[in-house]
Amino acid sequence: PLKQSIPLDDIAYNEKGLVAAIAQDHLDGTVLMMAWMNKESLQKTLDTGEAWYWSRSRQELWHKGATSGHIQKVKAIRYDCDSDALLLTIEQIGDIACHTGERSCFHQIDHSKSAPPADTLTELYKVICDRKNNPTEKSYTCSLFQGGDNKILKKIGEETAEVVMAFKDDNPTEIAGEVSDLLYHTLVALAHHNVDIREVYKKLDERKK
Ligand code: AMP
Ligand code: ZN
Ligand code: ZN
Ligand code: ZN
Repeated sequence: PLKQSIPLDDIAYNEKGLVAAIAQDHLDGTVLMMAWMNKESLQKTLDTGEAWYWSRSRQELWHKGATSGHIQKVKAIRYDCDSDALLLTIEQIGDIACHTGERSCFHQIDHSKSAPPADTLTELYKVICDRKNNPTEKSYTCSLFQGGDNKILKKIGEETAEVVMAFKDDNPTEIAGEVSDLLYHTLVALAHHNVDIREVYKKLDERKK
C-alpha cells in the first residue's frame, strides 16, 4: 500500500464521477500519460501502490499494465489547487507508459514524433547522444567523441581541478560554471561508454533510502 493517504471525499470528481490523473516519471519528471480515475480506482491505487484507472472505453476499472506488464508503481499522489486533477509520481515498469510502445503518450508534436522534455541534465544528455549519432564538423561535443577516452577523461580531470578551485574561491558564479563544465563532460563520457543517465539517476535514487 501507499504510505500516504488522500482525502477521497475532497476530490472534485466531475459529473461522471471522474478525475483526471497525470502520471509523471519519478526519476526525470517526464510526463508519461493522462487517464481518468474514479473514487474506487483511487482507493485501489492507495491500497495496492499500483496505478488503477477508469477505462471510459471499456467502462471498467483498469489496472494499468495488467495485460502489457507495464505496471506503474506509485511513489506519491498529489492533487491540484481546486482538487480536480491528480498528479501521480510513478516508477514505470518497462519504461513504457503508452499502448503504442512509446515511453510517453505525449510524443505527438506538429504531426511528428518527439519525446516530451525531462529535466535539464536529461535534455542535455539527449543532445549529446544526438551529436554522437549525427556527427557534425563544427561541434565541440563531436570533437570530444572523436578524441575518445584520451580527450574526454583528460577534460574530466581538468574540470575536476577547476571545480575544486572554484569552491576554494567560494565564488557562486564560478562554482556554477565549473560544476556545469564537469557535469557536461561527465555526460559526454557516459554517452561515449553507452551508460544512460537514467542508470545514474537510479543509483542516486537508491541513496535517498
Ligand atoms: P495495459 O493496461 O498497459 O496492460 O494496456 C491495456 C489496454 O489499456 C491497452 O490495450 C490500451 O487499450 C489501454 N492503454 C494502455 N495504456 C494506455 C495509455 N497510456 N493511454 C490510453 N490507453 C492505454
Ligand atoms: Zn484544477
Ligand atoms: Zn498513449
Ligand atoms: Zn572549467
